[in-house]
Amino acid sequence: MQPMTPGPREFVFCTKVGTGHPEEMYIAGAHMDGHGWGEAANDDGSGTALVMELARVFSGPDVRTDRTIRFALWNNEETGSQGARAYIAQRQALQGKEDPAGSGKYPEPKWLGMIQHDIMLFDHGMPREDGTMSSEQRPEADVNVEFQVNSKMAAESQKLAWIFLVANEKYASDYPASVGSHMTNTDSGPFQDIIPAISLRENERGTQIGSGWDPQWHQPTDVFTTYSDKDFRLGLNAAQTTLGAIGTLTGATITK
Ligand SMILES: [Zn+2]
Repeated sequence: MQPMTPGPREFVFCTKVGTGHPEEMYIAGAHMDGHGWGEAANDDGSGTALVMELARVFSGPDVRTDRTIRFALWNNEETGSQGARAYIAQRQALQGKEDPAGSGKYPEPKWLGMIQHDIMLFDHGMPREDGTMSSEQRPEADVNVEFQVNSKMAAESQKLAWIFLVANEKYASDYPASVGSHMTNTDSGPFQDIIPAISLRENERGTQIGSGWDPQWHQPTDVFTTYSDKDFRLGLNAAQTTLGAIGTLTGATITK
């Protein structure tokens, strides 16, 4: 396949407005851009699919949340999170302001937390000595929830990460979650000194993906047909984890 030709990249979000506290929100994000001259089906087709699926669930007419949720697809994560940085530059000062006054509308609710979803499908373990990999999802595959211990909001971000672990234990059907303290290379990074910020991935970004645990990462082989049902099921479990956690955090209920 030939290299892709980069064009304009846009930022997309939709918002579930909370009924009790529309002025406060959690942000659930993923990045739209990808490397590899292929489809970037895992990185980050999987994270964006997860966020869009959650937006579909929460947009149901019978779903109410007390607080607001913003579903965000960022651009330019792969080139240094310029999309997330632009969002902060343009909107940080607008937080929690009712506009127009008296309308009950908050174009930029106060940020309570930022949860980024990246590459979500492939946890086949570490490469063998000869460089080959298991062709199967490893039985002990997990959803890696990471916060950054060297950030101003480390204590608050760690607390958010543990809420995701508890939600995984309660709501995910097949795979557990693990919490790590070295979140890096993610759109949650620009938020980590401002608000509680975590990332969800198939592996730890630093020690595992950085050590070759995902041979499709940024490669032409990152196409839909590379992945099996077990791989997609890990992504589904990440979706269950975030759905349970954000549903709990925002006071989601089903109305009849
Ligand atoms: Zn990615």
